[in-house]
Amino acid sequence: MPDSQLSGVAVSPGRARGPVVRVAEPAGAPPATPAPADPQVEAKRIAPAAQAVVARLEAMAETATGEAATILITTAAMAGDPALVGNAEQLVSAERLPAARAVHIAADGFAEQLAAAGGYLAERVRDVQDVRDRIVAELLGITPPGVPDLEAPSVLVALDLAPADTAGLDPAKVLALVTAEGGPTSHTAILARSLGIPAVVAVRGVLELNAAALLVDGDTGTVTVADAGEPVFAAERGGPAEWNGKGETADGHRVKVLGNVGSAGDAEAAVAAGAEGVGLFRTEFCYLDAPTEPSVEQQRSAYTAVLEPFRGKPVVVRTLDAGADKPLAFLAQEEEPNPALGVRGLRVALDRPDLLDRQLEAIAGAAADSGAEVSVMAPMVATAEEAAWFAERVHAAGIARAGVMIEIPAAALAAREILDAVEFVSVGTNDLAQYAFGADRQLGAVAALNDPWQPALLRLISFVGDAARETGKPAGVCGEAAADPLLARVLAGLGISSLSMNAAAVRAVGASLAAVSLDDCRSAAAAAVAAATATAARSGAGSVAAPA
Ligand code: PEP
Ligand code: MG
Repeated sequence: MPDSQLSGVAVSPGRARGPVVRVAEPAGAPPATPAPADPQVEAKRIAPAAQAVVARLEAMAETATGEAATILITTAAMAGDPALVGNAEQLVSAERLPAARAVHIAADGFAEQLAAAGGYLAERVRDVQDVRDRIVAELLGITPPGVPDLEAPSVLVALDLAPADTAGLDPAKVLALVTAEGGPTSHTAILARSLGIPAVVAVRGVLELNAAALLVDGDTGTVTVADAGEPVFAAERGGPAEWNGKGETADGHRVKVLGNVGSAGDAEAAVAAGAEGVGLFRTEFCYLDAPTEPSVEQQRSAYTAVLEPFRGKPVVVRTLDAGADKPLAFLAQEEEPNPALGVRGLRVALDRPDLLDRQLEAIAGAAADSGAEVSVMAPMVATAEEAAWFAERVHAAGIARAGVMIEIPAAALAAREILDAVEFVSVGTNDLAQYAFGADRQLGAVAALNDPWQPALLRLISFVGDAARETGKPAGVCGEAAADPLLARVLAGLGISSLSMNAAAVRAVGASLAAVSLDDCRSAAAAAVAAATATAARSGAGSVAAPA
């Protein structure tokens, strides 16, 4: 590969060339001195600064639509969080710190808690840092970080982009996005896809390239230095897709298009996006801040709030995926040298079945209260024996449909025996990739290994698809792989019968499936599985039938 070409992880298809605009990085931690002359006066500056940031984000939300608007409103709510403002005010008074420094420390405290929580909540760390930098800039009277106003259509190059930055992008002005960090499952990747902007993430060295213009290929993941004098063009831009709301191929093969949710807000966003139900309800949110185990009644009402918008529709509730890197205050656990390989997910329940039984009682109650068609599934299942143990407890709780996640390679290879023990399975491609490739899913440095187009990952999924066909039981995918419109076709071709994703991806995936036949999906799957590299898998599948 020539020096003028770099490679990263392609996350949003299309090719575009244009002049580069670098997104400035935040200035870093503000100084701890000089100490304010009057800490009380200094502390009083924080709330108005936070409110100014809230107002700016809310104004941006008014001109945005769909998922972008939801993300801006969520970020605005974080900026106005009384706990953040209160903690920062206290730091000013107690430690005589300048307001900007205090906000920085208080926000970092929140970010650390979220990072320790792992998974879904860890994805919110970037939002908290973004809010931190915006309030600090307001207090210091400097330009807030983020995307500058673009005078001409440009290729944006950044270390990483906060979700609020991506949500505020104008697709008419942004030809393509390139980030040095970030992974295929980040919010930025998902939003770029929904806005139809070609994007490549985890491009190491792109910040040092200093190119005036770039050619960005969102299909192959290559970023090439282009001639600054060449005309700007954008090709094969996706654009927002049309979809009639029923998940099926052009010839009527059913593949349900579902939403991933973790809160009542997510549930509303999924309904608004047209999701046919929920393929993954991450219940951890209900426990993470709790100093003691929430009572069955508390859990029941928290789950009901999420299930209510889905009356009469299918919802898969996942039991607690905690332990190790997602420690819970009320669950005393030993420190482990390799948390991702330790006692997490179902393994916590195997140690503490009473905890699982109380959660199942609450889920059964919420199913009755909401009228949703509830199934329950377990995370981090390794063997058919574990699956059978779980199914027995779910049935004993009066819930008819029990399933498990396939997110450990051993479970994919034993999918046949596992399906004999449960009613359905759902592939968690985020963890399945992490364990198959031995690559931490949160680490930008190994993001290329966690590319869901890796043929070895697709071969593991094909085992699951074959087992589903043989047993006549359904297999879904609820990892972020399901959110890629082209990969969705490959998964359907491998025998997957439901796809569950972030609300932002629902319409594009539904439209992509509707544009091709089941045979096209099977041909795309055969090409991708037989490929030698992730790039070849993507282009092999794309050459069979590229999404409209
Ligand atoms: C997965 O691992 O793919 C998954 C869907 O679960 P989570 O991201 O919550 O670990
Ligand atoms: Mg997982």
